[in-house]
Amino acid sequence: MYPMAYGLTTPVTQLHHLAGKLEKPLRTLGIQTIRDLIFYYPTRYDDYSVVLDIAALVPGTVATVRGRVEHIRSSRSPRRRLLITEAIVADGTGSVRVRWYNQPFTTRMFKSGDEVFVSGRVDSDHGHTFVSPSCEKITQPKQGGDTLHTARLVPVYHLTRGITTKQVRFLVKHTLDHALLPPEHLPPGVLQSHRWPALGQALQEIHFPTNQTTLTVARERLTFDELFTLQLGNRLAREARVRERAPQFPFPKDTIQTFVRQLPFTLTPGQRRAAWEAMQDLAKPYPMNRLLEGDVGSGKTAVAALVARVVVAGGGQVSYMAPTSILAVQHFSTLRRLCEGSGLRLGLYTRERIELGGLGTVGKKEFQKLLTAGEVDLVIGTHALLGESLRWHRLGLVIIDEQHRFGVSQRQQLQQSVTGSNEQPHLLSMTATPIPRSLALTLYGDLDLSVIRERPAGRRPIITEIVTPDRRGRMEERMQSELAAGRQCFVICPTIDESDHLGVRSVTAEYERLQTEAFATVPIGLLHGRLSADKREAARTAFLNGETKILVATSVVEVGVDVPNATVMVIEGSERFGLAQLHQFRGRVGRASHQSYCFLCTDTDTEGGQARLEAVQQSADGFALAEQDLRLRGPGELLGTSQSGVPDLKLANIFDYQLIRQAQILAEEVVTADPTLTHHPQLRELVGELPSVHLE
Ligand code: ADP
Ligand code: MG
Repeated sequence: MYPMAYGLTTPVTQLHHLAGKLEKPLRTLGIQTIRDLIFYYPTRYDDYSVVLDIAALVPGTVATVRGRVEHIRSSRSPRRRLLITEAIVADGTGSVRVRWYNQPFTTRMFKSGDEVFVSGRVDSDHGHTFVSPSCEKITQPKQGGDTLHTARLVPVYHLTRGITTKQVRFLVKHTLDHALLPPEHLPPGVLQSHRWPALGQALQEIHFPTNQTTLTVARERLTFDELFTLQLGNRLAREARVRERAPQFPFPKDTIQTFVRQLPFTLTPGQRRAAWEAMQDLAKPYPMNRLLEGDVGSGKTAVAALVARVVVAGGGQVSYMAPTSILAVQHFSTLRRLCEGSGLRLGLYTRERIELGGLGTVGKKEFQKLLTAGEVDLVIGTHALLGESLRWHRLGLVIIDEQHRFGVSQRQQLQQSVTGSNEQPHLLSMTATPIPRSLALTLYGDLDLSVIRERPAGRRPIITEIVTPDRRGRMEERMQSELAAGRQCFVICPTIDESDHLGVRSVTAEYERLQTEAFATVPIGLLHGRLSADKREAARTAFLNGETKILVATSVVEVGVDVPNATVMVIEGSERFGLAQLHQFRGRVGRASHQSYCFLCTDTDTEGGQARLEAVQQSADGFALAEQDLRLRGPGELLGTSQSGVPDLKLANIFDYQLIRQAQILAEEVVTADPTLTHHPQLRELVGELPSVHLE
């Protein structure tokens, strides 16, 4: 007999000699342990569940019959050298021909007199014929419900070279029959209220469903498990955070009121709310971990400045990280303007340049000395700040602009690496990618969320047009008239060099073309990531100061470049960008009260591509576009390919807001009652599998 000792971590190769032979393809499919195999869900099912009388077969349909093999033999086709195996299967109502091609083992598997199920498509060839069907011998005590390949809903698995779906089916069935299945981890009340099957039952059902209804319920339960596992991980991360220590910064009412009064504008209600939420976190004895989401131009920088002001007022220092050094430099000047007269001492720290407000460029040593002495309040840099082992006087807050470029593990590394004391700094991350709520809950459920919905008043909607090759003339006229009115234009191209992608406009070629053709008299700048830092900085500054009128750039301007005098955004090869990204580009213009324009240029006219561009044309709502991006291209696309931490969900769908909420509520209940999961060892094991979650 089989020893009942197969645990979840037992290698599949020990399960059965077949798995030993299939070790390589199984590994390709990500299956190494019993657990991997059990959770290797079918991608779909063939419905072979209805067993018909042979007399009732209808050609052109998929059907199953049960009968006796009356005759079976193989022969070679004279011309095509095919091995043809034919059998006659009969029940009380009639007989049917069964034919396989190049399957020599069928004659070994089935003999005359065998009782079999045959499932597959019925052809009208020579009367009724099953061509290459699934066929399975009925042995005592096997009943109909115990079949693997026929006479039921038959699971179909994603495969790779060297392994067949029948082999996977066999191994899964063998595992379900002989391994110890994972213990139940959901409370009985939850199972009862949803009428969900227990875990073991659900796993049986998802592989070998009894019927469609039981399958649906089992799937729902297992989907919930995925979401619940994630939420539990999030909730535990939060629990661990609450037990960490952070410096407390009480709300300095007068300082903040003065600061707000000195800002060059009135804060929007959304900015006020977001700042207030973060300020409440700063007063707590454990680290803030807040994500500030706000559409392009919603004014997140001012919120960051306010929050930073609170920390500095309480004697803390602030590290502000931008995704690129261009943006770090730009934020340095923006924040210097916003903090004018506040007494805040600002520093810039990038690989290329170290600068202190008021003092100008300084050396690394001097900067470090002043930082340790607490003579610098707010340091703006890139995330290279992470790698630098800077010694702070008292780091109280880390602000990360464009947070979605940082993965979960980077966030954790950041929190651990930036402080030498046992206090953790507070963390405020900001993103202009409007992450739909459902995704934020799933992905960033360990964060608190603030959302700025509105844009500062007085901005006119941006006019967006799709530009096919025949309409380029009109677009260039608009560029000319805006330039004549003293405004500036961005031209975004998807690639740097012509050779990168055939037929796609590149910055270098477009830069040449604009200079020699339509805009020969206009000063034009060039900006892309392969230029030296000095050149990038020079290009940016020249455009900001109005010395260049057109800036030809790659997606490096996607975030944060703020030139209020720019009113035209031309995006070449626009079909190559995500919707949310196009919306980000568009957000580079319309930053002042002038009417602004966004031109989505496209050379291809595929229907899908056109529909996507139309979506951007018709909607100014970044959240709606992001949601659509998510549906069309998945979370990886929305968040950027370098994003780590997008969970690998097999069943769950990030739009299933209801189920996500339910999972979140249950995780909350469980952790509130048992914060260390001492009484839930099975749950501890469950989240222990998550790489992103650290329990203490
Ligand atoms: P983002 O959220 O995209 O980072 P920014 O912080 O760069 O937005 O702000 C965009 C522009 O709006 C900046 O020029 C900023 O000075 C301006 N701004 C910010 N808040 C307000 C406000 N409440 N009223 C008017 N203009 C504002
Ligand atoms: Mg910004």
